[in-house]
Amino acid sequence: MSALTSIVKLTINISIGTIAALKMITRPGSILLVFAHPDDESSLVSGTAAKYTRRGIPVDLICATGGEKGTRLDVPSDVDTATARVVELRAATNVIGIRNIYLLGYVDGDLGKVDPSEVADRILKIMRDVCPEIVITFGPDGISGHPDHIAISRAATAAFEKFTESGSGPCKLYYVTIPASMLAEIGSEGVKRLATRPDDEITTTIDISGYFDIKIQALEAHKSQQDARLVAEMLQSAKEGGWEPRESFLLASPEPTEKEIDLYD
Ligand SMILES: [Zn+2]
Repeated sequence: MSALTSIVKLTINISIGTIAALKMITRPGSILLVFAHPDDESSLVSGTAAKYTRRGIPVDLICATGGEKGTRLDVPSDVDTATARVVELRAATNVIGIRNIYLLGYVDGDLGKVDPSEVADRILKIMRDVCPEIVITFGPDGISGHPDHIAISRAATAAFEKFTESGSGPCKLYYVTIPASMLAEIGSEGVKRLATRPDDEITTTIDISGYFDIKIQALEAHKSQQDARLVAEMLQSAKEGGWEPRESFLLASPEPTEKEIDLYD
């Protein structure tokens, strides 16, 4: 064997070994949740987030507002609502296992009045720091139609598009959604009118049956919030009634090709 052939063979062997080693250490990238208010994360995606954190996948949260317009159940009069809510948010995210919370500090109800490019740029900066593989936010309907939900959906989507344009990836964008069948199954009495999707439009369904208690605990951590308490009670009775818990998403990017039961499919 000539010296040149030996060098070529050695190089090929090292390359194969390096690729194998890289495959062994390559882990799925992180998940970035982008929501408007403290408690959005718990009511919509806490089961999914808990499931992936228990697999060792980091999950981070951007929360755009302080939730100042929320209810103040059992909040002492000398504590302002935003302060109480951030304490509750930290408790909820500890239950879920979320790694970092990024608070953008906008005022609850005012997000739609802020320059959308400013919000998108701030989200983009966090995306560049965190480099998520998966981004989850509201869809254009904002589920409850709250203007802050719609504004954060637009800003997160714009940030995601810029992030992926720059060649970062692989990266997927999901919109959280509620299948029409779900409200029929667990009831919707007392819940604000919510946008739902026909079940056949849902692209991604995550079974959270091992994480249902975590979801209920995360909601209960937002104890000053009437809606969070109500949803926790509804889920608790659904659980007792044998409902199979799941969270549902629309894959917004890339174009969906088939139904998924895992965000990393
Ligand atoms: Zn909200």
